[in-house]
Amino acid sequence: MSSQKRTFLVLLGVPGAGKGTQAKLLEESLRLPQISTGDIFRYNLKNQTELGLLAKSYMDRGDLVPDEVTIRMVQDRLEKPDAANGAILDGFPRNLIQAQAFGEMTASDGGVRLAPLINLSDEEAMRRITGRRVCRTCGAVYHIDFNPPKKEGVCDIDGGELYQRDDDKTDTVRNRLYVYYKQTSPLIGYYFAKGVLAELDGAQPIDVVQAQLKQLLEQKL
Ligand code: ADP
Ligand code: AMP
Ligand code: ZN
Repeated sequence: MSSQKRTFLVLLGVPGAGKGTQAKLLEESLRLPQISTGDIFRYNLKNQTELGLLAKSYMDRGDLVPDEVTIRMVQDRLEKPDAANGAILDGFPRNLIQAQAFGEMTASDGGVRLAPLINLSDEEAMRRITGRRVCRTCGAVYHIDFNPPKKEGVCDIDGGELYQRDDDKTDTVRNRLYVYYKQTSPLIGYYFAKGVLAELDGAQPIDVVQAQLKQLLEQKL
């Protein structure tokens, strides 16, 4: 590892706020990889690994996968060469235990550099989640009304099939919001106290949120 400090961003917000959408757009300009723990779990599930099978029951219910497993998975991911300069975290940390563990993992880099909070009402989050569609091949994220692909059901990037996540369909959605308020929302105070929280209005169009994020990063990084 180089002696240069790595840059870590943590995107915060309710499920559906637009964290994954914004992280993917930021990857190129920041030259940092998006690390989405949800995406890694889904990849493992698709490939029927032990980790995927373990995560499945928690994901089906919308509960958090146990911290020990999740933290180790992120630790392993950070060892990959593409994260040598840092990463954009999306969906991790999700509770105070994970946040503390991540603080230790990044202590030599001065911890998390910036934690943008993408604000969105629960009603809007529900609309976003239930209309979300994901490419089976590349994981690109669409919305049937707000961000539709050019051809219904088909990924613009690679022609892959778009599907609806199982946990985006059912009562699981409500439990995920509940889990967010109970376990994840304390991270807002946690990162505020560390002086790295920055709030954004997530109800704006995707490109407007992206522009504001970039502006924020220019000021703070
Ligand atoms: P998260 O990662 O926070 O769960 P996503 O990035 O997957 O959220 O976005 C949730 C859904 O909302 C997706 O279908 C996405 O296309 C859509 N979406 C994201 N940002 C916006 C926005 N600013 N306006 C309208 N729809 C959005
Ligand atoms: P997401 O893709 O972020 O909406 O996450 C989908 C599901 O994966 C969540 O409902 C959890 O079951 C699981 N998950 C994702 N990230 C984490 C995390 N950091 N800790 C525990 N579980 C997680
Ligand atoms: Zn695709």
